[in-house]
Amino acid sequence: MPFPEPREDLGLREGYHSPQVNVSVRLNTNESPLPPPAGWLEALAAELQAIDFNRYPDRGATDLRHALADFHEVRPEQVFCANGSNEVLQSLCLAYGGPGRSVAVFEPTYALHSHIAHLTGTAVAEGQRRPDFSLDLDVVYDVVAGAEPAITFLCSPNNPTGLADDPSAVRAVLGLAPGLVVVDEAYGQFADWSALSLVEEGVPLVVTRTFSKTWSMAAARLGYLIGPAPVVEMLERVVLPYHLDSFKQAAGRLALRFVGEMEERVGLIVRERQRILAAFGRLPVTAWPSQSNFILFRPEQRKGSEVWQGLLDRSVLVRDTSSWPGLAGCLRVTVGTPEENDAFLAALAAVLK
Ligand code: PMP
Repeated sequence: MPFPEPREDLGLREGYHSPQVNVSVRLNTNESPLPPPAGWLEALAAELQAIDFNRYPDRGATDLRHALADFHEVRPEQVFCANGSNEVLQSLCLAYGGPGRSVAVFEPTYALHSHIAHLTGTAVAEGQRRPDFSLDLDVVYDVVAGAEPAITFLCSPNNPTGLADDPSAVRAVLGLAPGLVVVDEAYGQFADWSALSLVEEGVPLVVTRTFSKTWSMAAARLGYLIGPAPVVEMLERVVLPYHLDSFKQAAGRLALRFVGEMEERVGLIVRERQRILAAFGRLPVTAWPSQSNFILFRPEQRKGSEVWQGLLDRSVLVRDTSSWPGLAGCLRVTVGTPEENDAFLAALAAVLK
């Protein structure tokens, strides 16, 4: 019996993934290099005893949404939570995309925006960023006027370039885009400015966030968005019932008791990011200024893929973006602990010698 063919419009697209190889220094997926605070783990272990595992979880994730609403000073009705911010993005495409509709993206940017659009049968209208990776508002105008996208994706700070959009650019896109504007702020805590300040009832803007980076909880898969209540209500309708398990809901709610520790981590990463950038200044590489927990750089005298392999040979794994459109020769390194960053810089200097 032949296997059934999958949906034709999927076009056998390759999934988005980074190799998970065993190395001493893993700087390829922009996670936090530090474990969560010990106090959080203890509180979570205690909470585990109280979970009614024979019952479905609270479908509305009420306590978690209230805690996030308090944290961001919004109403709980403006908070939607999901299994990682990727599931938030997928829910947005399910609710607002679909056949006959499109999303707009500005490349190079986070590959999952267009990937999830394709998976949900949504067309993708693509514009290019300027050579310095900033948004070109003329391009934004042309793309949104041509495609009239249901969703316009921004990513600030942008993965994989590290640059954040400034408030005037986000305001301008809001003025141009006909549908919903989604600002993906997976790395928002590392930046000087957040589009959260522009979220208001009546404004078609949502901001997505994640617990995977600063909160040191990538393994828990928890993300959320802040936006107008009617958008949140639509997302609740498309998401699967009971999609957020009780354990995850508790994990997120308890994490919000450790804001001080989270801010300390952000401070450390930002200091280390500046230290790596300063060290890059003494090496034959071009690096882009970053407002994130990673840095995009391009070795000037060697092929990016060779440098990637040279680092791997020294047990340091970074992201090889050298063959991605618009990123010829570039690599992306996640900021690690001071020791990991020392190991990375020493390996890079040795490879480039
Ligand atoms: N948005 C961006 C820009 C990202 O880089 C990532 C992580 N790679 C995500 C969203 C997804 O994060 P999460 O772990 O919350 O699904």
